[in-house]
Parts: sequence; C-alpha cells; structure tokens
Amino acid sequence: MDGETLPQPDCEYIVVGSGPGGGTVAARLAEAGGSVILLEAGGDPRELQGGDPLKPETNRLPLDYDVPAFHAFASENEAIKWDFFVRHYSDESQQKLDWKYVREIDGGQAGGVLYPRAGTLGGCSAHNAQIFVYPDNADWQRIADITGDASWAPDHMRVLFEHLENCHHRPLRRWIGKLGLNPTQHGWAGWLHTEKAIPIAAVLKRDLFRTLRDCVEKELASSGHVVKRLGWFLESWGDPNDYRIVQDEQARVGVRYLPLTTRKHARMGSRERVLEAASKHANLKIQLHTLVSNVLFDAGNRAIGVEYLRGERLYRASPRANEEPGELRRLYASKEVILAGGAFNTPQLLMLSGIGPREELERYGIHVRVHLPGVGKNLQDRYEIAVVNRMNVPRWEVYEDVQFVPGDPQFREWQAFRSGIYATNGSVLSVFKRSPLSQGPPDLICMALLTKFQGYYPNYSQSLAKDLNYLTWVVLKAHTRNCAGEITLRSPDARDVPYVNFHYFAEGGDEDLKAVIDGIRFVRKLTSKLKESRAMVEECPGEEKQSDEDLASFVRRNAWGHHASCSCAIGPVLQSDFRVHGTQNLRVVDASVFPRIPGSFIASAVYMIGEKAGQVILNAWRG
Ligand SMILES: Cc1cc2nc3c(=O)[nH]c(=O)nc-3n(C[C@H](O)[C@H](O)[C@H](O)COP(=O)(O)OP(=O)(O)OC[C@H]3O[C@@H](n4cnc5c(N)ncnc54)[C@H](O)[C@@H]3O)c2cc1C
Repeated sequence: MDGETLPQPDCEYIVVGSGPGGGTVAARLAEAGGSVILLEAGGDPRELQGGDPLKPETNRLPLDYDVPAFHAFASENEAIKWDFFVRHYSDESQQKLDWKYVREIDGGQAGGVLYPRAGTLGGCSAHNAQIFVYPDNADWQRIADITGDASWAPDHMRVLFEHLENCHHRPLRRWIGKLGLNPTQHGWAGWLHTEKAIPIAAVLKRDLFRTLRDCVEKELASSGHVVKRLGWFLESWGDPNDYRIVQDEQARVGVRYLPLTTRKHARMGSRERVLEAASKHANLKIQLHTLVSNVLFDAGNRAIGVEYLRGERLYRASPRANEEPGELRRLYASKEVILAGGAFNTPQLLMLSGIGPREELERYGIHVRVHLPGVGKNLQDRYEIAVVNRMNVPRWEVYEDVQFVPGDPQFREWQAFRSGIYATNGSVLSVFKRSPLSQGPPDLICMALLTKFQGYYPNYSQSLAKDLNYLTWVVLKAHTRNCAGEITLRSPDARDVPYVNFHYFAEGGDEDLKAVIDGIRFVRKLTSKLKESRAMVEECPGEEKQSDEDLASFVRRNAWGHHASCSCAIGPVLQSDFRVHGTQNLRVVDASVFPRIPGSFIASAVYMIGEKAGQVILNAWRG
C-alpha cells in the first residue's frame, strides 16, 4: 500500500479473531456505535457438523458445544478443532520421554505434543472447560508497575470485571446487591453469565460422598489454621472470586468451588457475546471462514486494513485442511486493526506482516517493517500434572448408564432440568494451595476429576467415556517462572502452523519443579486414607515414585499446559494501551498481551483485557 491512494474503508475497526479477547472488544466497540467487522477463520460451532476423531462421519454438534461436561469432546470435535503439536524441549531425546509425544500424524510430521486450540467462532471459549477464576491482584499491579499506567491497578480492573460479569452463583448476594450492597464486588448485570454446578444427588452417592469426605478431612488436617480457614470459607461460601477473598492472598487458599461460564447450565462465551451484540447492532458484522494472512499499512506504518483468504478449513491445524488455496481479498478500516488470534496466531500474523525479529523475517524473505525482537518470545504456560488413581469398583455410581452421548439418562436429565453430572465440567472438588516457595497468592490448584486424564494426546477424550472408575487429581502450577517459550515461523505461508517451543523449566525450573512435587505429595495425602482402605490404587506416577529425583523426572517428562500466553507482551511488543510499538492504529487484544501469565485460569483475565481495550480504544478516538 506504500505510496498508493488509500482505498475506501469498509468499516472503522477490523478485529481478527473472536475468542475471549477479540469477541469482547468487538462487541464493546460496536455497542458504542463503532462500525466493526469481526473476522474469524472458523465457522460457527453451533451451525457446523462434526464428530469425534474416531467417528468423523457422526455429528456431535451443537451438543459438544452446549453441554458443559462434553468439553473434552468439543476440544477434539473435527469441525472446530485446531491441533497444534508443540515442543516442550528442543532436545529430541528429552522430548521423546513424554509418552504423549507424536512423531507423525495422518502420514504427516507432527514432531510434538498435542496442544488443542479451537478455530471457530468463540475461539477457545468454544471448547474450554469453562472455569472462571478471577486473576490475582498482583497480576494487574505488576502491569501497572511495569508501565506506570495506573489504569491497570487492581481496583480499576475489578470495575471492568463487574461490568462484564452476570454472576448467578451467589443468589443471596445477588439479591442484596439489588439493594446497592455489594461487598463481594461481583457483577450482576453484565453479559457473561457465571454459575456453579454441584450435582447434589451425585455427590450424595455413597462411593463419591465417602471419597470427597475423606479428601476434605485430610485437606483440613494437613493445612492447619482450621478456624481461620473456616472463617474465610464461610465469608465467601467457597467462592474464589469474592473480592474480599481476592484482596487477601492468605484467604484464597483452601477448598473452593470453580465457577463456570455457563448460562442455564449450557456453555456461553464470546460466541454468544458477538452474536447477541450483532443481533442488536447492525454495525457489527461477523465474517466467518476468513483467515487473515497479512496486515496492510500505509507508508507511515499506519495499519489500514488486512488481506485474507476466504474459505473453509484453510489453516493447516484443521483436520483434513482444505487443499484449495482460498480466495485472496482485502478489507480496509478507517480507524484501527485489532489482532486477537490468540497466543500462537497473533505473533505469527505480526511476523507475516513484517513485524518481528529481523533475522526471523529475513529468513523467509518477509520485508521488515518493524524490527521487534519480542514478537513470539516470552511465551508462557502453566505446568500441569496428573496423579491418577483407579477405584476398586467397576465404575462410579454416578456413571451408571453414562455414555457421554446425547440420549443417555444423564443427558436427558441435563436436557430436561439442566442439572446432574453433565451440568458440571467433571471437576468435583478443588483445593487452592500455596507451595512452600510461593511468596504471594496460591500457586497450586488441585482438581479432582472422576476420570482418567493425563493431558492431551490424539483421541484423549475417548478415555473419558471408557475409564469410569478413576479419580484423577490434576495439579496445576500457577505463576510459573519460565518465560523462555517461543513461537517462530515455519514458512511465510499464512496457512502453515508456526513452530511452538515452550522450553520447559528453562527458567526457574528448580523452584517450579519443587512446587509441582509439593502438589503431588499434597494430593497423595488427600487420598491416603482411601488408599489404606484399598478403595483405590495409584496408577500414575505410581507408589514406587517417592523421591524428589523420581518425581522431578516424572514431572519433566509428563507435564503439559493449556493456557498459552504472553507471546506479544506489554513492554517488549505493546504499549500499555495495547498498541504495537513502531506502528499506528494496530493493537493486540488477546492472551498474548500479558507480561507474565496471570492468575490460575486465564480466560477471566482475557475477557477483562477485552473490556479494557474497548474502553481504551473508545477513549482514544473520543480524543
Ligand atoms: C482444552 C482447553 C481448555 C481450557 N479450559 C480453560 C478453562 O476452563 N478456564 C480458563 O480460564 N481457560 C481455559 N483455557 C484457556 C482459554 O480458553 C484461552 O486461553 C482463551 O480462550 C484465549 O483467548 P484468546 O482470545 O487469546 O484466543 P482464542 O480463544 O484462541 O481465540 C482466537 C481466535 O482467533 C481465530 N484466529 C486465529 N488466527 C486467525 C487469523 N489469522 N484469521 C482469522 N481468525 C484467526 C481463531 O480461530 C480463534 O477463534 C482452555 C484452553 C484449552 C485449549
């Protein structure tokens, strides 16, 4: 475009990607009267047809999308999934020690571990586990400190949260809130519904009740400060998002329930947000099956539009990707281009557009518009690990007749009453804990799942429907120290998937390993009574692994993550108002913006920055 007369704009704002970042900002801009075109590479998950990988000819949509307990099937649904195969290590011999490593898939090279993403309307909010846990105040304070921008201070950010949330899991507080009393600082009238799903009848089944009771008893005994912790629990009723609890890092520990982003116990996320906004505001247009390949600039590095390929399944992370090249087209914006393709795709798109590390771009013959070495660097994630226990029964009582298919009794219960085990995301108990090395908020979230889950590998969801006598404790390490992950191009073709390497444990590895091992020992303690009574046996890592060395080696081999973030961070790549250094009218609004991975579950923070960006952009154009 350099030197050419600028074409007529098609809209004021182009937003690329409809996940929690892009969907949220697009809807806010449109509500304020802006004319917005939202471009999304995938289709609508409730309109598409797609089955699981073993039976691709069957159709499990829209129920894989709707039913909270089907989230694992959603993440493997052929119509919406984008499969990345990522490296945890460069060293091939270390990488191959992970049994989840896939060398080849469908006759092509994989060379990594499956990392599911959703290439569909709503982004990963279309397949995620719907857990909605408020970030830690320290996360926001860090950004305020780094940038000197006080609008990132925790209390400001909480106002944005109140604006977006429509909380239904504190019914009494909701009612009192209407009288103007709101010490929990929940939002009661926002667009994102949050609920809690506790299937009472299931919990009261003898086997599950006993298991949970024993674990909770052990948790109370092992953590001490029972009276104080009971006080905190009663203040919030186990709600981790109550602002009184969030403000006090000590008080965030203990047994907590996990709020879900559901409405009437069906999934909701940025898909619903943008469709509902578009139905009320004709100035929001959503264009699906549109893979953006390049940002267009004028001679002064001002973003003026995008180039894209029109067609279904063009991105090669899609199963059976389209062999046709797609139709090349352009769109122009008079005000801004906002990139929200997620932590893997936004850095890829920036690099394809000439913004990134010079050597990397030159290697692929891409004209360097802005030499920005931080693009694709600083990639971060959690470490997660599973302690898998097999119960001494053929299946949990709650799983009687369960098949995880439409039509089984649990499905009928969900359909008729929106209750029962399918209204949950499968997690029956969670404990927030601080590892001995943590100075701040809890850094270990331990979740009990009534299934066998050991991370992501092709067809992993099949285990959920098959292994019905397992209790898995997933240990999630939050506030990880490793910022060494990176995303680099494999080619200048926008349809190719970039190379992703997290370089696990490269930074702060010893501390993070110690914390994860502490988590493993802790969840083992929770089930010790059940093991003594032979109600269960530990299958993985296995009782023989007790020493620090054995457990560290187990964690190095088997850990995984699914909150990829920080790859276009505020600081090296972005200003505190999301603008890309060295350019004008170009912003990034998705999980890649954070300097450090926030909280324990990232989606809440991404929705919040979507709200914040909406405010910042509108203020900027109001002058
Ligand atoms: C299996 C799984 C379970 C998860 N569970 C939870 C959970 O329970 N709680 C939680 O807090 N977090 C969870 N997460 C993480 C969370 O959902 C994501 O971090 C979050 O959705 C990221 O939002 P985003 O806007 O950055 O990007 P995404 O959600 O990845 O959305 C990006 C969108 O951009 C589109 N796109 C990308 N490139 C282009 C392009 N070039 N042109 C056009 N469109 C493009 C993609 O198709 C996608 O729709 C989970 C993640 C996974 C993978």
